[in-house]
Amino acid sequence: MIEFDQVHKAYEVEGRAIPALQPTSLAIENGEVFGIVGHSGAGKSTLVRLINLLERPSGGRIVIDGEDVTGYDSKDLRDFRRKVGMIFQHFNLLSSKTVEDNIAFPMKLAGIYSRDEIRTRVAELLERVGLTHHARKFPSQLSGGQKQRVGIARALACRPTILLCDEATSALDPQTTQSVLRLLGDLNRELKLTIVLITHEMDVVRRVCDRVAVMDAGDVVEMGPVTDVFLHP
Ligand code: ADP
Ligand code: ADP
Repeated sequence: MIEFDQVHKAYEVEGRAIPALQPTSLAIENGEVFGIVGHSGAGKSTLVRLINLLERPSGGRIVIDGEDVTGYDSKDLRDFRRKVGMIFQHFNLLSSKTVEDNIAFPMKLAGIYSRDEIRTRVAELLERVGLTHHARKFPSQLSGGQKQRVGIARALACRPTILLCDEATSALDPQTTQSVLRLLGDLNRELKLTIVLITHEMDVVRRVCDRVAVMDAGDVVEMGPVTDVFLHP
């Protein structure tokens, strides 16, 4: 479970504090698909990047699976980040590495997996996302949908329990979006993966999310089951 207790964030820019997230409390259950919507600048990325401590909160408490992670140091963080995978709008693949090396990369960085473990896991992931025959290709040789499936495989390499998605389908055409959403839905069900996804596409929310938070100017202004939030009488 992901718990925020009065978490807030302001960025320091040239000595000035730029507020990005007002004090926010929420709880995302294990196995839930939780959507975050709102205009550009509303604080969606900030909220999501606080979950894996890519950003540090200015105050409040973040608890993941019962453990307070707010004060984690860099060594704790290295272990903790294996629990939380992330995918991005522009995929963020390493262009000089092949598909299989991109997927293996976080396992190598973690420094706790043997070469055999990495090889086996990469083969399993390639098959899971349907890219076995593209293992030796470079990202530039892949379609957008294929690149995002590499992103997903890489994010899952260290067997996280949480997957964060920052506009992960925004650069894809509608048909490829469907295919990536279907994969995410399958992974959510098969692995009981908790998914937190930012999107500006209402169709994505309706299709995959259990609950949704609507953000505006650094505040969560509504939160609830998708049908409650989007089907006002
Ligand atoms: P969203 O994802 O909804 O577009 P963000 O979380 O990216 O919103 O941004 C929230 C606010 O924080 C905006 O005013 C944005 O300009 C500001 N902001 C985001 N990241 C930074 C940063 N690294 N440094 C300074 N200000 C930032
Ligand atoms: P793109 O259109 O970007 O090439 P798609 O996501 O539409 O990528 O899928 C391309 C091909 O890969 C399709 O033939 C589809 O059936 C197959 N495919 C998509 N997702 C999976 C998956 N999870 N496992 C196996 N094959 C898949």
